[in-house]
Amino acid sequence: MKLVFATNNKHKLEEISHLLEGEAEIGSLAEIGCQEDIPEDHDTLEENALQKARYIKEHYGYDCFADDTGLEIEALDKRPGVYSARYAGPAKDSVENMKKVLREMEGISDRKACFRTVIALIQGKEEHLFEGRVDGKILTAQQGEAGFGYDPIFQPEGFDLSFAEMPMDEKNKISHRGRAIQQLIAFLKEQHNK
Ligand code: IMP
Repeated sequence: MKLVFATNNKHKLEEISHLLEGEAEIGSLAEIGCQEDIPEDHDTLEENALQKARYIKEHYGYDCFADDTGLEIEALDKRPGVYSARYAGPAKDSVENMKKVLREMEGISDRKACFRTVIALIQGKEEHLFEGRVDGKILTAQQGEAGFGYDPIFQPEGFDLSFAEMPMDEKNKISHRGRAIQQLIAFLKEQHNK
């Protein structure tokens, strides 16, 4: 096993394993026997991604990578940002998170926002960061049923649809996570071909 992806999200694991076929073998947390919650208690995406990757390297010894994502809204001083998953409270779901954002954005005309994903890769003693970003705006109401998280209230620049109205393939091509993953893949492929 070459590289562990520090996530419990099966969808993310499948997606990246598929994209990296033949370039690097990806292992899961389950495969290395990691069942505990990996701490992520910093105030930035970069520090959280690094914290998760370092945890796996230190406790299990594997080269690995981890990701962290946030929705940054300009008029809200970049909130919910690193707190995106639990914006309305620890036990609340994404509908509650979206409702909170829509409430806070009521009457605000500057609706600019971006999604950012940071991936931290650790290979031996080396650490590398990759970032993917998509700019767009916060809609005034939910639109669409697909996707997850804040997808129904985010409309990427250059499109008339929310992320939740776009086919998954189309979203992945332009999304924050898609772009960060493409950078990681380009880096790993370059190493593989050296
Ligand atoms: P994570 O770091 O990938 O777990 O993402 C943190 C939170 O950001 C998630 O719980 C979602 O609420 C939100 N999020 C991440 N990626 C997306 C996306 O592609 N669309 C909408 N919301 C997202």
